[in-house]
Amino acid sequence: MTQAIVWFNSILRINDHPAFTQASQDHQSIIPIFIFDQRQLAQKSSNHNHFLMECLANLDQKIKKLGGQLILRDGDCLNTLSQLAQEHKVSQIYTTLSYNPKLQLTYRQLGKKGLTVKQFPGQYIVDDLDQIVTKNQQHYQVFTPFYRNWLAQKRRLISPTPVHCHLPSKNIKTLQPSYLNQFIKSEDLSPNKIHGGEDLAYQRLDHFLANKLNDYLANHDNLSIDGTSHLSADLNFGTISPLMIEASLNPSTNSTAWLRQMCWREFYAYILYYYPDNLKQEFQTKYRNLQWTNDPIYLQAWQNSQTGYPIIDSAMKQLRLEGFIHNRARLIVASFLTKDLDIDWRLGQQYFEKYLIDHDTASNNGNWQWVTSVGVDPAPMFRRFYNPIKQQIAYDKTGQYVKKYLPTLAQVPNQFLAQPWIMPISQQVSSNCLIGVDYPLPIVDHQLARQIAFNKYKLN
Ligand SMILES: Cc1cc2nc3c(=O)[nH]c(=O)nc-3n(C[C@H](O)[C@H](O)[C@H](O)COP(=O)(O)OP(=O)(O)OC[C@H]3O[C@@H](n4cnc5c(N)ncnc54)[C@H](O)[C@@H]3O)c2cc1C
Repeated sequence: MTQAIVWFNSILRINDHPAFTQASQDHQSIIPIFIFDQRQLAQKSSNHNHFLMECLANLDQKIKKLGGQLILRDGDCLNTLSQLAQEHKVSQIYTTLSYNPKLQLTYRQLGKKGLTVKQFPGQYIVDDLDQIVTKNQQHYQVFTPFYRNWLAQKRRLISPTPVHCHLPSKNIKTLQPSYLNQFIKSEDLSPNKIHGGEDLAYQRLDHFLANKLNDYLANHDNLSIDGTSHLSADLNFGTISPLMIEASLNPSTNSTAWLRQMCWREFYAYILYYYPDNLKQEFQTKYRNLQWTNDPIYLQAWQNSQTGYPIIDSAMKQLRLEGFIHNRARLIVASFLTKDLDIDWRLGQQYFEKYLIDHDTASNNGNWQWVTSVGVDPAPMFRRFYNPIKQQIAYDKTGQYVKKYLPTLAQVPNQFLAQPWIMPISQQVSSNCLIGVDYPLPIVDHQLARQIAFNKYKLN
């Protein structure tokens, strides 16, 4: 009778989980384990930890249906795994190939303790990032050529779902997913957030494919319509297989456009892996000396939906209510924070981390640098300098997005919704919205801020 450990870390599902499948084919009994790292959890957001709790509960249910159980432990991964291996006479650990430097280090340390760590793909559509290089064997820094190369990479086969999973003993000590409650502050939880788990992830996919994909190109930027998949958290927690998603797509211009978006996630993972310093500093050396005013009053106004620009304030309200922001709105609020308010992109990156359920270090960092015009895939700064008034008029034509998140503006006529401060006073009275009383005046003048930002970037 042989036994192995399957260490669930970066993907929390049973379908298309190559490590789990292979272990169940190679061994009679398996210990599926997830380890809580207290130090890491204390740094994660309440939204993140709550979603994780739901994912683990669902994963446990699914493994129980196969005859096993998800073992939950807390502590240092290296010690926990070596102790468990010793107790149950296990010499092999099956797990997922990861580009996370901390996980890679643990894999190597486990090897030094005499355990064989077998790594299998599953986090991305193309897991072998080393293969994606230019003709001169360089790493890509621009998205489109990366995307072309990525499209041409060979895909692995989807792994069959294990049909059984038996623990070597009935008495393996385990914690409950509710262990995570101690890392969740109810006041930080977004009341309208989505819920986690593999079953819900596939329901979200089905819903998107049946109702939204056919109009993705037309609608994905339209804030008045909820036209995107909301699968980002599922992809980042690994409750859904990106390869299964790709395989489920029929060829069409809409599915190509959607797949291209999914490739951005893999591009940013690739970029952060090869350029880890991007986490702290601008990728473009010429912008490393940019000076930021970092006015705390402006920062608070941005965080608390008090800038006086409805598109900014509604997006930031969506963040607090749902732990999510539409991609178009993320672009607009990030441009506004850095270029209009002159606040360091690292502070925006941090605030997103505090609420986003789909927070992913690489995508968050890559996108913040992209909008601030300091990262990879460069473009002149004005190309990513969004006018909050024009953006609202173009992308929330019906005003539905703004009115959903800012009920104070519910009765403001559409013609004033992007600049409520120009409403005549009689209109303010009849709309039940006095500017400066019920809704703030704009904290900066966009045209003036634009000029200041242009000069600042020009100096570098
Ligand atoms: C400043 C800023 C910060 C961001 N931070 C994050 C983050 O922490 N985590 C995160 O997953 N995404 C982040 N994004 C990217 C993007 O906004 C979200 O992935 C997207 O809004 C998720 O919605 P969806 O699943 O409905 O997207 P869909 O439009 O349905 O796209 C499908 C999938 O493609 C991927 N994707 C789409 N756009 C991007 C992109 N620009 N960059 C990377 N992946 C993309 C996501 O995995 C997404 O689920 C950020 C964007 C900006 C501008």
